[in-house]
Amino acid sequence: MKEYFFKKKFDQYFLKDKNIAKKIVKNLSFQDYNTVVEIGPGVGILTRYLLLLCKKVFLIEIDENLIFFLKKNFFIPKNQIIHQDFLKWNPEEINLKNFALIGNFPYGISSKILFHILKYNQYIPECIGMFQKEFVERIFFSHKGIGKYGILSVLVQSFYDVEYLFSVKKNVFYPIPNVKSAVISLKRKKLEILFNKDILFKCVKMAFNQRRKILKNSLQYFKKIPNFYDIPFLNKRAEQLSIKEFLQLTKEIEIRK
Ligand code: SAH
Repeated sequence: MKEYFFKKKFDQYFLKDKNIAKKIVKNLSFQDYNTVVEIGPGVGILTRYLLLLCKKVFLIEIDENLIFFLKKNFFIPKNQIIHQDFLKWNPEEINLKNFALIGNFPYGISSKILFHILKYNQYIPECIGMFQKEFVERIFFSHKGIGKYGILSVLVQSFYDVEYLFSVKKNVFYPIPNVKSAVISLKRKKLEILFNKDILFKCVKMAFNQRRKILKNSLQYFKKIPNFYDIPFLNKRAEQLSIKEFLQLTKEIEIRK
């Protein structure tokens, strides 16, 4: 690995520790699909193990130099090494309908990555990802009402069970980052079909964007639907609702429309 590989603008911190790489990959459960998509493979420390275990591996990497490196060093069909910004990638374009995602993600776009996963959640049963530890704790493991229980916490956990797998120290990366890391898994819940995604997104965003207001006021967008004021929870504020209650709220709105 030569110095010219590292680009701050692409959040390039490469994992050096092969045992950690192996441990991350081993957390994938390979029963339901045979395709894995890796986001930001870098110089391929995870890729190496993915290729041993998965039938089909797609790599999505934004940095052209790394694309060149990956094509040269890995025996993967060229059209599975994709030079693209993951945030603009649409799995339908290559007809991918059931795949796992994995990656040591670029931390600067963590939230955007999660939103992009949510956009295509019907195709993604599982995701194993490394994020900044502080981000993971803030979004998924803060107590209700404290910290950042908010839009992402609710939306991601409406569709996925989130599990904290393990922490990763700074000194196993090159260059050494300023922050600690954590690996989590997202496993898709079974019941997603029962609520309307569009309504859920609207509710959660509106409720948290005016988080000091009670829902009766923050959800005025829906006030014209019949019997709006009979909907439960309207006297509560967004952060007083659990994930389950947000889903219930979504259903209550849906059945009245
Ligand atoms: N997985 C590698 C690299 C992690 S660093 C390892 O563990 O060592 C983050 C990687 O994501 C880099 O390779 C970077 O170029 C890539 N990246 C950054 N932004 C991206 C984006 N929007 N889409 C795809 N890849 C991106």
